[in-house]
Amino acid sequence: MLKISLGKLTDLFDAIAEKEALYIPADKAGVAQFTRYENGLKMSDALNTNRSAKDFFFPQIENLVDFKVNGKNIEIIDPRTEQEDFVVFGVRGCDARSFSVLDKVFLANPVDSYYANRREHGTIVSMACTRPAETCFCGSFGIDASDPEGDVTCWKTEDALYLRANTEKGEALIEKVKPLLEESDDAAVEAQKAATKEILGKLPLRSFTTEKFGGDVMMQAFNSDKWNSLSESCLGCGTCTFVCPTCQCYDIRDFNTGNGIQRFRCWDSCMYSDFTQMAGGQPRLTQKERFRQRFMHKLVYFPANNNGEYGCVGCGRCLSKCPISMNIVKVAKTLEGEL
Ligand code: SF4
Ligand code: SF4
Repeated sequence: MLKISLGKLTDLFDAIAEKEALYIPADKAGVAQFTRYENGLKMSDALNTNRSAKDFFFPQIENLVDFKVNGKNIEIIDPRTEQEDFVVFGVRGCDARSFSVLDKVFLANPVDSYYANRREHGTIVSMACTRPAETCFCGSFGIDASDPEGDVTCWKTEDALYLRANTEKGEALIEKVKPLLEESDDAAVEAQKAATKEILGKLPLRSFTTEKFGGDVMMQAFNSDKWNSLSESCLGCGTCTFVCPTCQCYDIRDFNTGNGIQRFRCWDSCMYSDFTQMAGGQPRLTQKERFRQRFMHKLVYFPANNNGEYGCVGCGRCLSKCPISMNIVKVAKTLEGEL
């Protein structure tokens, strides 16, 4: 275990930022957001960022290819460049696990080279939670918020930041800032972990489980009458999908630049009425069908295709952001009586 006193945290950030781009959670416009570090930027004390670290690897808008038209000639321009190395610092345990879900989608054959490029160059430094919120339920997915995954795991105590490298990438990062760090025992970290576990054990959603879900109950869950009442008030606003660290649906569109086409992808939402619109028609005609798709994907289809791993990490964002207070916990609890 290595440590640095909190008084020298700025030195640590400066040292990392000197070598590669560094992003830390900082308070901006009333919420915590990952922000590119510049000397003096203060790390937020908020429990988690408004938007997850997904944005670094799967940005909301991304140019895929350009077509330049010149008379009868069309030039195809590949906008991909080798991504610069970067560090995302302060990722919580739920969001650190979200990459396991995203990797299964984007790194499966055929590999999404845009995502792969960013994953290759990004280092995740996670931060253990000490004050989990009432909306948190990462423990339901086997995530330990007191000892999160990541290339490097950090614990922030009253007076020091403790660091442990978990991967080769993490070790390489630690090596770059080694002169600033000192060896330490793990007594303070173990004490913090025990205190956090006690809080985690008292959270309102501590006993929430998705055990009844998965591929075996596919048709039973799909055909449940409960979808009618559950989806009745859904506004189709897509907020739940946009704040979710594991949602990964996108649309591809062409923008006419006047002398060519810019083909880009942007986040889409299965909650939107035109999400499955095709030339041949719309297979999901009602909000109930769209709503059902989102939760069936996370609770049933994804685990059925990924050795039981659910498409949710219990970050609680959809619990706090949905304007009608609908969320995956309510859906799972309502459906489970029927399974
Ligand atoms: S945030 Fe709530 S209202 Fe908006 S689409 Fe999601 S479930 Fe529906
Ligand atoms: S479904 Fe909700 S709780 Fe689960 S990962 Fe997405 S936003 Fe977080």
